This record gives sequence, structure tokens and C-alpha cells, in this order.
Amino acid sequence: MRDALPWREPVPLDGTMGEPRARGRFGEYGGRYAPESLVEACREVDEAFREAWADPGFRGALARLLAVNAGRPTPLTPAHRLSEALGVQLYLKREDLTHTGSHKINNVLGQALLATRMGRRRLIAETGAGQHGVATATAAALLGLEATVFMGERDIERQALNVFRMRMLGAEVVPVTTGSRTLKDATSEAMRHWVGTTGDSHYCIGSVVGPDPYPWMVREFQRVIGDEARGQCAAELRTGVPDYVVACVGGGSNAAGTFAGFADTPARLVGVEAEGGAGAARGRLGVLHGSRSLFLQDEDGQITQAHSIAAGLDYPGVGPEHAHLRDLGRARYVTVTDDEAVGAAVRLARTEGIVPALESAHALAWVIRAAGDGDLPAGSTVLMTLSGRGDKDASTLKELL
Ligand SMILES: *Cc1c(COP(=O)(O)O)cnc(C)c1O
Repeated sequence: MRDALPWREPVPLDGTMGEPRARGRFGEYGGRYAPESLVEACREVDEAFREAWADPGFRGALARLLAVNAGRPTPLTPAHRLSEALGVQLYLKREDLTHTGSHKINNVLGQALLATRMGRRRLIAETGAGQHGVATATAAALLGLEATVFMGERDIERQALNVFRMRMLGAEVVPVTTGSRTLKDATSEAMRHWVGTTGDSHYCIGSVVGPDPYPWMVREFQRVIGDEARGQCAAELRTGVPDYVVACVGGGSNAAGTFAGFADTPARLVGVEAEGGAGAARGRLGVLHGSRSLFLQDEDGQITQAHSIAAGLDYPGVGPEHAHLRDLGRARYVTVTDDEAVGAAVRLARTEGIVPALESAHALAWVIRAAGDGDLPAGSTVLMTLSGRGDKDASTLKELL
């Protein structure tokens, strides 16, 4: 399906992807919609993050963890054979090669280090497919913290391998039996649990969603993707800056981190959502999980269930900053179907020897379609973030192929 949004000429805007305005606002989105005790807890996280982010000691400690534990910097890989077939020059930012296999670890190491600085002993997290839960359990083990991970009962059944990994790493996995028993309910439950435990626990949110300061803080922790890629493009690309920067969007953290590195360049930014989870492309204004943003809703304004073959894109909303970038016309949001994503995953495996996560395959599916229909002009340079590896999707793919 063609996207309904107009393509405006990209204008590097002053302050785009800088700090949000007062009270965590990105345009009319964002904010801190939470019970009083959580508003106070968020205020403490905000203060601690501002201090830490301005402290070279904290930055240095995080950079070292990212290097020696998570395997950064990740490579920029030219996709030679696929590029030739598509008539564009495609470069892949390889978050699939990080420890634990996705970009989630960048954010989690940042928040876990912040939690220890705040004197917290325990991390609370929500997880859908289990990638964020595994990353949280990993960071907790590494830094000697406890971890409690909320996960919908249905997801626990579907993602047995990641549940085992979390338990192996010493985390407690708490089944959530309310609502649709998936990510949306696990997030609500984790927030409820945090209310009673703010003194000793840090809530480690897994994407650029939730109450202020999370959307901003998580984007800053993921900025390492875009900053590295910017330097790598400057060294590798004839043009220095790619014509297009593309990433998949669930809540939007790998995209936000990637876009942040290119916000002040003429690069066109493209976020690719799942057809059944297109918060930015098709959502309406609402409030969920502590922030005002775009969410899929029915006629009565009830937030509806998302549906995607990629568990990480199976969320009915999108982070507030993406909603704002959409309104500004600075980034464009498009959708692809489950079938297109599966086709793209197979194609990448067979042309480049890389099995991508189904989430990442959505970004590639748009590149393939756009190169075919001229939306991506021939000869364009394209930077695409490959957010994760496909091992976790083996059982899903086995049934289809
Ligand atoms: C969780 C996940 C996503 C979606 O999360 P964002 O916050 O939108 O980046 C995408 N890809 C992979 C591999 C994931 O694990």
C-alpha cells in the first residue's frame, strides 16, 4: 500500500532531535501522564539522567561496556549483490552483531548503569518477544542487579527460548494474564508494579515510549547507532551522507537512534512500520503508558490490538518524537505487509548471507519495493539499520517456508 503522507523536501530543522521542550514535549506529543508517585519517580530518573549524561565519567563507563561487553562499534556492511540487483547502493548498520543480537542492549546498558548510579538494586522491564527482557536480564547479571520481567502469558508460550534465556540469566519472569496477554498488558502491569517499588527499583523501558524522560533518554542511549553510522558513512560513501536513512519502527527506538545521527543532514528519513501496527502512519492522538502520542484506535477511541508477524512491531502506538517528526515532515512513515517482510528476509539471506530479524526485514522490504517502483531513484545511497538477527524467528519462518 502506498503511504498517504506527502513527501516534503527535507529541511534540517534547528533543534530537531535535540532535547524535548518543557515537560518532555515533542510538539503536542509526549509528557508525563502517570499517577503521582510515578511522576515523582520519573522526575528522579530525569534528574539522574541529565547529570549522568553531562558527566564524562558516566559516558566513558558506558562506552567501555558497549565496546567490551556488547561488541561495539558494529560494522557498516555494503550489501553488494542486493544493491546491484536493486540499482541502489545499500549499506547495512549491523545491530544484529551486538551481544544478545539486537540494538536493545545499547539502551539497557545505559539504563542499568544509571540505575546503579541511582543506588537502585533491581530492574523492572516489560517484554513482548523477549528481546528486551533478555537484554535487561543480561545487563542485570553483568552489573549485579536483580531483574523482574513482565511478559504476557501468550508471549511466554510463543517465545519459549527467550523465556529460558532470561531464567538462565537469573531473571524472574512474571506471566501477565490480563487483557490480550501480550506486550500492551505486560507494559501496564510493569508500570503498576513500579508504583510500589520506586525506592529500590528502576523501570527499564525498552523503547522510545512511556512518560518523560524515557522517550528522550532511550533515544539518547540509542544515538550511538546513528553517530557511528554517520562517521562510517563519511569514511565509506562517495557522497559522505546517504540520500536515505531507513529503519523499522515498533515503538521507534532503533529508528530514533539512527535518525538522531542524521537529523542535521539533508538525508531523507524513512520509518517503516508493520501494516498491522502502523501507529505513526495511521494512528490517532491518544494517551497510553504515560505519554501522549499516536495510537491505533477504534471509532470509540479504544486503543486496538496490533497485529504483526514481527513481535517487536506488534505495538499499537509509536513514540511521541516520531509523531512529531511526522507532523514536521522531517521523517516519513510507510508500511509493509507480513508477506513482504518474509520475502525480504529470504532475499537478504540468499544474497548477502544474513538472516535478519523479521522486524528489520520490514525496513528492507520497503527498500526493495521503493527501488522497484521508483520511490527510491536509481543510484540512491541508502543506509538501513539492521536492528537484529533472525534466530528468534526460526520457528515462525519454518512454518511459512
Ligand atoms: C524490539 C525490536 C524492534 C522494535 O523496537 P524499536 O523500539 O522500534 O526499535 C525492532 N527490531 C528488533 C530486532 C527488535 O528486537
